[in-house]
Order: sequence, then C-alpha cells, then structure tokens
Amino acid sequence: MSWHILGAGSLGCLWAARLARGGVPVQLILRDSARLDAYRCAGGLTLVEQGRAQRYAVPGQTADDPQPIRRLLLACKAYDAESAITGLAPRLAPGAELVLLQNGLGSQEAVAARVPQARCIFASSTEGAFRDGTAAEGEWRVVFAGQGHTWLGDPLDDQPPPWLADLERSGIPHQWSPDILSRLWRKLALNCAINPLSVLYACRNGGLSDHPEEVATLCTELCQLLHSCGQPAAALDLHADVQRVIQATAANYSSMHQDVARGRRTEIAYLLGHACATAQRQRLVLPHLAALHERLVQYLEAHGLPSH
Ligand code: NAP
Repeated sequence: MSWHILGAGSLGCLWAARLARGGVPVQLILRDSARLDAYRCAGGLTLVEQGRAQRYAVPGQTADDPQPIRRLLLACKAYDAESAITGLAPRLAPGAELVLLQNGLGSQEAVAARVPQARCIFASSTEGAFRDGTAAEGEWRVVFAGQGHTWLGDPLDDQPPPWLADLERSGIPHQWSPDILSRLWRKLALNCAINPLSVLYACRNGGLSDHPEEVATLCTELCQLLHSCGQPAAALDLHADVQRVIQATAANYSSMHQDVARGRRTEIAYLLGHACATAQRQRLVLPHLAALHERLVQYLEAHGLPSH
C-alpha cells in the first residue's frame, strides 16, 4: 500500500527518501502543477546525510490527482495543516490513516475535525532537517542535520497500526507512545520557556542563562497550565529540563529565532499562542505567559511577520 506525503519540505523529503530507500511505495503531493513541474525538472529529491548526497526519484503529484489515499503523512507547517487536509479530504479512502507531524498543539484537532472518517495519529519528532536552498537542486535538496526519534500515538485508540513495520524497514527511529498528548504538551512547554525569549533577547539558547528568574517564573506558570489541562506528567521537573536544554543547546539558535531571522512565519499560534488560549479558556490567570505572548506578538508585527 502506498504512502502519500503532503509537503515536500524538510521533514516530508526526509521521510520520503527513507521510505523509498526501504522499498516502501511513496508519492509526494506538491502544492500545484508549477511546483510539480519544478520538482520533476530537478529529477526528484536529494537527501544529504553525513555529507553524502543521494537523489531519490520519488514520484510526485498534486492534490487533484484521482488516486485514493489510504495512508498520509501530513508534513506541512502547523498553520497550513487544516487547509491542506481540506483539499485532500475527498481523496481519503474509507479507513484512511493520517500521521500528523506538526509541531505544537491545536492543528491536530483542527485536522481531525475536518476528516472525522480518518484515523489521526499524532507525531512528535526530535529529528532535524533543513532545505539547502543554496544548492542547484534548490528546494528539493534536504540536509539530514540531526539524528533523533519520532514518537507516534493516537489519543483515541492505543492500538499501534501494523504499518509501523514500514518505518522499521526504512530505518526511521520511532516508538509507539500510549501517551502522545503528554509528549506534545511537554515539548510545547519547553518551547514556550525557551523560544520566545530567545527571539525577544535576540540570543542563542545559552543566552537565556542571563535571565534565570524570567525562565523560572515561566516554568512555574507552564506547570500550572499543564496541571489544569490534566497533564501532570508533562509538568514533572519541567524547570530542571528547561535548564538542561538551555545548557545542552547553548550554542544553537532556537527554531523560532531562525524563522524570524529568515523572515519566515513562525508557528507561534500552535505554541505560546495555544498555551495562552488554553489558559484563557480555563479561566486560568498566567500573567507572565500572557505578557510574553503580547511582547512576542508585538515583536513579530514590528518585523512584518504574522502574529497568529
Ligand atoms: P517546511 O520545510 O517548511 O516544509 C513544509 C512543506 O509543506 C513545504 O514544502 C510547503 O510547500 C508544503 N505545503 C504547505 N501547504 C501545502 C499544500 N497545501 N499542498 C502541498 N504542500 C504544502 O517544514 P518542515 O521543517 O518540514 O516542518 C514541518 C512540520 O514539522 C512543522 O510543524 C515543524 O515544526 C515540524 N518539525 C520540523 C523539524 C525540522 O527539523 N525541520 C523537526 C521537528 C518538527 P511550499 O514550499 O510550496 O510552501
């Protein structure tokens, strides 16, 4: 059975190349016929691993292809996910399964509401990849920059799907997680404690060591939020973990910092924005988190970037 991957970006190409190499049938869904033509002209996608580049002629198509979709990896940004799935909904076969790779929270529920007939599996990944825009192959050349792991889970059904064997065969490190929401909330909380401040202070993650009280206060409020959302496990030792990440990634710029520096839209609405909206819905007053959100919104607007 073929996999379809929507979003021939960093993670989409990383998954497509490994599935193809593992002998698993896979098709990429491109945004429109102009993008499909450009992709075909490039002769497929190129994955760079440990300095070695290899091309994979993964077949491409657009959303209006008539072929039914049974297994879909949604590999676009969180802010594109709902509209992308709306365009594909008529092609989903009965019993179709979707893997949602989006960072943060909020987009998964929006996607699931659009396609109630499909099983939605949420994913959380620590793998790292980026598009090497400087190369001749341009957008279709992806560098596998960070080994990591992907956790997959379904909040409505803890039975793992049989196709995890495809990931095994393709060398995609993964684990079925009976509590994927806890993982996603924990990752969101880490992100909220580090990424917005790294943008506002225009610093590498290590620069946050100069603001220990601000980080500690945010962690306290994030723990309150996690408890009130019924996610106490995601709150365990959050502050210590945030400090550990700040140390371990001291020389790195956060993903949000990189997006802003490149003039790209951030996923704020699904990270800090989602945290604040959830707190508000629960009438939970978290003044420092709300003030941080407000500062970030103003910063993004001042830099001509979407703030939602
Ligand atoms: P990306 O490189 O920007 O790729 C997203 C792709 O989706 C782009 O190629 C975009 O096409 C495509 N797309 C958007 N809407 C589409 C549509 N309607 N039809 C077809 N294609 C569409 O993003 P990414 O870095 O792979 O990130 C994907 C998600 O994974 C994000 O939520 C991110 O936070 C998460 N994540 C990424 C990494 C990483 O290392 N990259 C790690 C962990 C998690 P265009 O180019 O035409 O806009």
